Formats: sequence, C-alpha cells, structure tokens
Amino acid sequence: MRPLLALAPLVPPIAASAGIARRLDRPQPTLTFDDGPHPEGTPRVLDALDARGTKAIFFVIGEQVERWPELAAEIERRGHELAIHGYRHRVQARLSVAAVKRDLERAVEVIGPTAHLHRPPLGVYSEAGLAAVRERGLEPLLWSRWGKDWRRLTTPQRIAARATRALGPGEVILLHDADHYSSKDSWQRTLAALPEILAAAQPTGSGSESTSIGVSAASQPK
Ligand SMILES: [Zn+2]
Repeated sequence: MRPLLALAPLVPPIAASAGIARRLDRPQPTLTFDDGPHPEGTPRVLDALDARGTKAIFFVIGEQVERWPELAAEIERRGHELAIHGYRHRVQARLSVAAVKRDLERAVEVIGPTAHLHRPPLGVYSEAGLAAVRERGLEPLLWSRWGKDWRRLTTPQRIAARATRALGPGEVILLHDADHYSSKDSWQRTLAALPEILAAAQPTGSGSESTSIGVSAASQPK
C-alpha cells in the first residue's frame, strides 16, 4: 500500500513514480471536463468548443451517462473523446477492493469499450484501483493545470487565470461541465471562463485550425 498515492494530484513526483500521466504528448494544451454529462452544462460547453474548433476529453460518470445517454453520444458525435471517471463519483480510497473493481466494470459497460483514458474522482487512486484500471487496459490521466472551478466562491476570471497560468505544450487542464458533485451551477462559471481558456490553449499561429486529438496521443508521464 502506498498511502502517498492520494497525493498524486497535488505532488507531481508522486504521480510520476506511480506512472500516472499528467500531460499528453501533443503540441497544444488539452481541455478536459469531468463529472458530466449534464443536461445544461454539457451542451453549452460543446457549443463553446465548436465555436473555437477545439476538441476536448470528457471524463464522464456512468450513472450520469445512464440518465442522459444522448448527451454522451453527442460528445462523441462532435468529435470529442469520452473517457472514464467512474460509475459513481466515489473516492476509491474509501471503497473496498471489490467495490472499486465493481464500479470500474460498470463504468466501462455503460460508458463504452472505446474509452481509453481513466481519471478517478478527485484524482485519487487507491492501489487496487490503479491496478484494476491498468488490468482493464485503461490509461490513467490526471492533470497539470486546473481552474478549481468546483468552488462556490470563485469567479470566471479566477478560473481562467488559474487554468492558463504558464500554459505550455501538452498541458492537461481540469475543468467541469457539470455540477452534479460540486457547488450548484458551477458549470456556469466554467462556461464564462472558457473563451479566455480556449484562446490561451490555442496553439500559436494555427488560427482556427482544429486541434484534433487521438487516443494514441497519450504519452508516458513526464
Ligand atoms: Zn469528478
């Protein structure tokens, strides 16, 4: 048991030593949206991404995909990647080994076999959870930048400033298109922050060129 694994989202060397990627091997930063789909948040975020021609990764929750399967299908239809965040939004460290595995199996069943990336709730892997994810052939991915957009007392300006600070190639930005597990209507602040984040994440000199992504682009941790 490596109890320090819980600190991987905050301490990059711990993520690296556990072989958990925080970046992707691609020239531009990548936006990722956790906790959806959400009946209001997801469509608005999809429209904002379309307006910039940017592709993102959506780490969805199985129980929400069951409520809104058409939204999950829409994410893929518009060229974004669906990834696994869990069946329920429960912290792995608080679950038994059997419960962690059950949750993962159910998530894969509901979200679909094309999903390739995995990120646990709060970014916290248990030893058993990380092993189960790898056995399943999934690749763990945390993040290197976040907007802390789940907070009740934040603003779009603060979200954008935090998410885009010293943004470089391959950065992975954590955002949320849903408020199922965070403060109410938090997705609205995220949405308001998006134009600034998208502008900062655009590769320089590429104009409106699509930043298309492929699952094969995931890299070893840096
Ligand atoms: Zn989450």
